[in-house]
Amino acid sequence: PRRPLVAGNWKMHGLRKDLVEAEKICAATAAGEAGQAEVVICLPATLLISAAPACRSAGVGLGGQHCHDEPSGAFTGDISAEMLKDAGASYVILGHSERRSGHNEGNESVREKASAALRAGLTAIVCVGETRAEREAGEALPVVGSQLTGSIPKKSTPESLVIAYEPVWAIGTGLTPTLQDIAAMHRFIRERIDVDLPGIGDRIRLLYGGSVKPGNAADLLGVEDVDGALVGGASLTARDFMAIAGVY
Ligand code: 13P
Repeated sequence: PRRPLVAGNWKMHGLRKDLVEAEKICAATAAGEAGQAEVVICLPATLLISAAPACRSAGVGLGGQHCHDEPSGAFTGDISAEMLKDAGASYVILGHSERRSGHNEGNESVREKASAALRAGLTAIVCVGETRAEREAGEALPVVGSQLTGSIPKKSTPESLVIAYEPVWAIGTGLTPTLQDIAAMHRFIRERIDVDLPGIGDRIRLLYGGSVKPGNAADLLGVEDVDGALVGGASLTARDFMAIAGVY
């Protein structure tokens, strides 16, 4: 039995005034609006410490959006997994396509960051997903397969690793794969994990991400082997985000 997980990725959105939305998400979750689902919000690093008390008392998980692989050092502008943990986070998104493409993060770098998350006691939400050109070339499965094998530390456990399948072409576009394509990809990911991390493929949670909205959440989250969502734009307001989490 895998507990559903609905995670919000605020990306580079949010000033202190926007913490009211995070607080509403906490209040709604504490009131049972997410049903069985675990709720996590991955905020800009500047908001983590301020959001931590409300998240802790509501049972909402708090996450960062990337980390460095070293615990500390001369890395101007970077944040370590230990720093995220110290700020109150228990999750960190790694290998998001916006970092893979905008910050040149390759699979090996993602794997080192995920190992750092493990070291610090954070759960890594490792993102994978093909581009439009790769899907059109019929390469979606092998591309995602090699991202998985390259990005996941061998020591990962079902508690310390979550995978998010986010097709690059579905992020922020309003487009989503067909339910059949999502089912096929998630089944493939689960099988591949069971090869790379023998025996735990069945216990790892697999999220779908890319244009998840209140209007399509029930369909997307109803797909076999989809254990939740990684939500971008629709996680910025408590109303939309809780409508998605409320599917559970
Ligand atoms: P959107 O939900 O805005 O498409 O973003 C998805 C995403 O990238 C979440 O990490």
